[in-house]
Amino acid sequence: MDENSQRPTPWDARQVMYEALIASAIDSAQMAESFGLPARQIILSCKVSGVQDLIAVYQGLAQRCSYALHLGLTEAGMGTKGTVASTAALSVLLQQGIGDTIRVSLTPAPGEARTQEVVVASEILQALGLRTFVPSVTACPGCGRTTSTTFQELAKQIDDYLRQSMPVWRTQYPGVESMKVAVMGCIVNGPGESKHADIGISLPGTGEAPAAPVYIDGEKALTLRGNNIANDFQAVVERYIQQRFGVQA
Ligand code: SF4
Repeated sequence: MDENSQRPTPWDARQVMYEALIASAIDSAQMAESFGLPARQIILSCKVSGVQDLIAVYQGLAQRCSYALHLGLTEAGMGTKGTVASTAALSVLLQQGIGDTIRVSLTPAPGEARTQEVVVASEILQALGLRTFVPSVTACPGCGRTTSTTFQELAKQIDDYLRQSMPVWRTQYPGVESMKVAVMGCIVNGPGESKHADIGISLPGTGEAPAAPVYIDGEKALTLRGNNIANDFQAVVERYIQQRFGVQA
């Protein structure tokens, strides 16, 4: 602050704080190098708790050094707030090519698993198209064209099933993580979205016949009916995965 007060046009306090963080991180890394630590073994973490602050600090670091950078919004908070704040900050930086490792810091709700941090971090990378970890499920938001909650329940069932299966599928079905599944609530957008997915189902909306056409690789493949559509669709998805991603002997 003393040095800053000598400037012809002093920076504001926030700019001074950014400069102190950036200079401190780079000075520390350079000192480590002077003691013999190779630059390739150094990764800088300069976490702050404000979204705009984090973006400014890491943009400055990326401009002024070539050390690997670890991104994370510290003390992001709980639930939706923490998830959105972390996603906003990390997405801007990752889109600019800044960041080599990431951490999402969420305060878990009582009893909530710590693994939610990892789920959010992997979803950020997957949403940005940087990495794929698990097949994605596209589900319609629902509207007045359906009064049933079937599409919500089916979307959740399929999403849970895909996530739970991935530890085994990762080795058994190479490439399955890039698969896209659609679960749609009525005929208005159901067939269109389902055709754009690898496998999709268009559930019957209000007033529609109780039938659910299933589309595979862009073509209508079969129609499911009855009270067991969710489990039947899950079985169709599993067969599709075996046929498309199973390693041929
Ligand atoms: S697919 Fe149908 S139910 Fe779902 S949001 Fe679109 S119009 Fe509404």
